[in-house]
Amino acid sequence: MVQKDFYKTLGVERNASDQEIKKAYRKLAQKYHPDKNKGDKKAEEKFKEINEAYETLSDKKKKSFYDQFGQTGGATGHGGYGGFDAQGFDFSSFSGGGGVGFADIFESFFGGGGGASKSRRRGPVRGENIEAGIKIKFEESVTGTERELEITKADRCDHCKGNGAEPGSKIKTCSTCKGTGEVRQIRQTLLGQIATSRPCDNCHGEGRMPEKKCLVCHGTTRVRKKEKVKVKIPAGISTDSTIRLSGKGEAGINGGSYGDLYLHIIVDPHRSFVRNGNDIHSEQKIHLLQGVLGDEITVKTIHGDIKLKIPPGTQSEKVFKLKSYGMPRLNSEQKGDHYLKIILDIPTKLTKKEKELYTALAKEAKINLKGGSFFGRFK
Ligand SMILES: [Zn+2]
Ligand SMILES: [Zn+2]
Repeated sequence: MVQKDFYKTLGVERNASDQEIKKAYRKLAQKYHPDKNKGDKKAEEKFKEINEAYETLSDKKKKSFYDQFGQTGGATGHGGYGGFDAQGFDFSSFSGGGGVGFADIFESFFGGGGGASKSRRRGPVRGENIEAGIKIKFEESVTGTERELEITKADRCDHCKGNGAEPGSKIKTCSTCKGTGEVRQIRQTLLGQIATSRPCDNCHGEGRMPEKKCLVCHGTTRVRKKEKVKVKIPAGISTDSTIRLSGKGEAGINGGSYGDLYLHIIVDPHRSFVRNGNDIHSEQKIHLLQGVLGDEITVKTIHGDIKLKIPPGTQSEKVFKLKSYGMPRLNSEQKGDHYLKIILDIPTKLTKKEKELYTALAKEAKINLKGGSFFGRFK
């Protein structure tokens, strides 16, 4: 389970402006930057979290998705998106191309322009994360369930085993960049010569390339593939939760690891049960006389029907606590409680005999009904 609050991570309010978010991000990113915290694993982890948070909150589409699906929405990744439509639930409107990736942010803040002369051969790049939505029935959130979904994603090319070379072809040094992975340009300006460098287009910044590119992936090392993924959805899951399947995202590049798959869970509301935390709330009508005289009634709970004793003199809107008949707690044997509100139902249609009895009852209770029989209006 992923429970991340990106706003908290950046230390800003939920209604923070884009500027405030950017400012907070810059400050934290500089503080936890790996160059300043060499070998500090905690700082590195923190740095990653900050970037993950900023990646989502700096992107309009991702931010709106994240805001809509609550604090557990782990909407990360750059543009990678596996369309998945379960029971008419379609997230495709959130599919975003052109998001800012971790690498992009990193470069624009700390990389670009810096020590220009060193070789910038590209290292491993982690695969993109994928997001998908799953809608489940309320009952399934009680018992837990399993889903199999088909994800379309950029996966490792089997033909070249992910190295981009046609099998049998030799890997050679890129002739364009002479193996440095970058191309330098000298520009004449009013201030003199300015040298800039960018990754080599020919070898995609790798410095090496196959003599003959893989005929299947054209040297990109990845192809689009469909993958069936089984997901266990735990009992007690609440709506707007996110499940992360580590390594089930898109394939990395240059030996980078796979991204993750984020599944946003939406639970259908129930007609009579309302969930509040791990507790369940419901209402049940009983006859006025059952409340007056007491009875034993059958109550529907999410774990099946149970018997409940209604003591004589039970008032309308009295709430009974049915201990441990609520939602299962995640990863626990414990359950919440069920709160049942009793509503006394006053009959609106009486037989002649009933009317006589109620009138006699009123007399017995010394209730002086004005204007003749109170029950006259039911005539
Ligand atoms: Zn290939
Ligand atoms: Zn090159």
